[in-house]
Amino acid sequence: MQPKLKTVPMRDWNLGLDDFVVISGPCSAENEEQVLNTARDVAKSDKVKVLRAGIWKPRTRPNSFEGVGEIGLKWLKKAKEETGLPIAVEVANAQHVELCLKYDVDILWVGARTTVNPFSVQEIADALKGIDIPVMVKNPINPDLQLWIGALERINQAGITKLAAIHRGFSSFEKGPFRNIPKWELPIELMRVCPEIEIICDPSHIAGNRDLIPFISQKAIDMDMHGLMIESHIQPKIALSDAKQQVKPAQLVTLLDELTIRKPSS
Ligand code: PEP
Ligand code: MN
Repeated sequence: MQPKLKTVPMRDWNLGLDDFVVISGPCSAENEEQVLNTARDVAKSDKVKVLRAGIWKPRTRPNSFEGVGEIGLKWLKKAKEETGLPIAVEVANAQHVELCLKYDVDILWVGARTTVNPFSVQEIADALKGIDIPVMVKNPINPDLQLWIGALERINQAGITKLAAIHRGFSSFEKGPFRNIPKWELPIELMRVCPEIEIICDPSHIAGNRDLIPFISQKAIDMDMHGLMIESHIQPKIALSDAKQQVKPAQLVTLLDELTIRKPSS
């Protein structure tokens, strides 16, 4: 069955966004100083329009840093008040949604490990009923386009029309240059079957290392994607998660300046 999503483009989300949106900030909120300093520095680039941070981290293996929880939302709220940047947070269940609403989070996103589970996605969708908040849905970790579309449909059917997709690549046992294989054919097919959905590329999780981020970012722009989500940290080397792929805010500014960013054709 041909999916039919009812969506509002990002420029009409009332967050001051344009047709091409750059989202940046740490993989994880770790402490107040790190969140505020990263936010202050990324806000120096007029290209960055949204601040991101993970508060609850769905780690693949136990006994690694799993996020600071609710207190991180307080730091993000403070960062938003200081910089004026809207904030985006990953949610994996109904309680996360509730807490994000309590702290005025502007954009929610569903992570790759949650998109794979229709029960979790439906729980999030049910928690969003009657609420007007933008939601972004990352592709599932496995290259299953129907699962990605299904998650978008569940959120959309809950009444969320401020909806976008995030392409973050797909896991594989094979070793290659990427942490997650881009498999560009999947977002291309998503564009074909759901032309109404805007897609943001997450080159950080595709690359898994800082060096490949510019190449992947330019490719996403050239493919007419609608934005980039790039992880940044004031001290990437000591980051508690995804240390190899985060860039310093100053590097982010240079990286963005070196990209040929043009608005996607609609
Ligand atoms: C993240 O954005 O930090 C994250 C956990 O991403 P993903 O869901 O793409 O693995
Ligand atoms: Mn991350």
